[in-house]
Amino acid sequence: MSALSYVSADNNSPWKTYLSQVERVLPYLGEVSRWADTLRHPKRALIVDIPLEMDDGSVRHFEGYRVQHNLSRGPGKGGVRYHPDVTLEEVMALSAWMTVKCAALNLPFGGAKGGIRVDPRELSLKELERLTRRYTSEIGTIIGPQQDIPAPDVGTNPQVMAWMMDTWSMNTGATSTGVVTGKPVHLGGSLGRVKATGRGVFVTGRVMALRIGLPLENCRIAIQGFGNVGSVAAGLFAEAGSLITAVQDHSATLYHPDGIDIPALTEWQRQNGSISGFKGATAVNHDAFWGYDYDILIPAALEGQITAERAGKLRCRLVLEGANGPTLPVADDILRERNITVVPDVICNAGGVTVSYFEWVQDFSSFFWSEDEINIRLDHIMEQALLAVWQKSQTLKVTLRTAAYAVACERILIARKERGIYP
Ligand code: GLU
Repeated sequence: MSALSYVSADNNSPWKTYLSQVERVLPYLGEVSRWADTLRHPKRALIVDIPLEMDDGSVRHFEGYRVQHNLSRGPGKGGVRYHPDVTLEEVMALSAWMTVKCAALNLPFGGAKGGIRVDPRELSLKELERLTRRYTSEIGTIIGPQQDIPAPDVGTNPQVMAWMMDTWSMNTGATSTGVVTGKPVHLGGSLGRVKATGRGVFVTGRVMALRIGLPLENCRIAIQGFGNVGSVAAGLFAEAGSLITAVQDHSATLYHPDGIDIPALTEWQRQNGSISGFKGATAVNHDAFWGYDYDILIPAALEGQITAERAGKLRCRLVLEGANGPTLPVADDILRERNITVVPDVICNAGGVTVSYFEWVQDFSSFFWSEDEINIRLDHIMEQALLAVWQKSQTLKVTLRTAAYAVACERILIARKERGIYP
């Protein structure tokens, strides 16, 4: 194995987390493991400079990225993240997780991801639009409906996707809706896309709760992150009779032993931009979040949140990874020893990219499905994917994460082998 010159020495970085996850699956890959080095090398990484004229006339420069980790099974697919801590290495890891996720769900895509090192909350709407348009132009040569299809991620939304679609279309001279997914519905977006990731967390959580004999009625759930993923999952679990006893976001940690009123909190968050100041629960300190007794924990924020220390003291039976890469490999081992089941990100949060796939198919055929059709197909694909992974984990006697990697990496490496090396 040859190490990449542009990777940092930080052992807890998302890229290192991804590499250890790959290491753990190698013994189960049989003959195709000969091709495994391909998983350790992103195919293509583009770094772009984005000069932005601010509303006050000054100019600032932002760093942007698009990484295509692997294209063996189809065009690149994956979101674009706007966050001040984005780095090339983080985007590499996120793109690799998309490769594994698309293969685990058997979607006909490779994996890609993009990002800009920016705090979007500090920009005006016009500045955000100019930033997005320049970024799209800069990465324009490597994206396209058959090349690489961006989508929303942390800090981006349907409006950002509309600007990306428009910019790429303007530059190529024809309206091309299929170049990005997660667009507004009247611009070729899909019904059900906004809620799809949170819905997938709920659907996979429901299947796994049943397997481990945990009734959803009155079960206690803690959610970290109350954005598009956490708030939707919270709403669906609350409708199923679960009690959302703790919610944390960047601004606050809220606790209520009888369950927080989720529609009220969602409305508060919509109006105020965060959960801070909500009166229907007690505000506690951030660390307290990890010490309560729950049945289910849903990390739905950023990477690296479940550390060894937190894994050692968590009191729950099931972890549903709404975020990408929330659990460090050392913490994975501790959770396994403690008999806490983890539904891994590459299955648990794959509802978003699954409905992105539906959106891409609908854009090509210019024929749009009803929300019911979308949700029925989404639930079916996710339940089947999780059950296949569950069976694999039973056969190999490994965690659901390693089982998901076994299913996915086998598909990726078989495609790699069959395509062969060019020239
Ligand atoms: N950003 C989402 C993810 O991490 C969705 C990607 C997509 O729809 O392409 O899965």
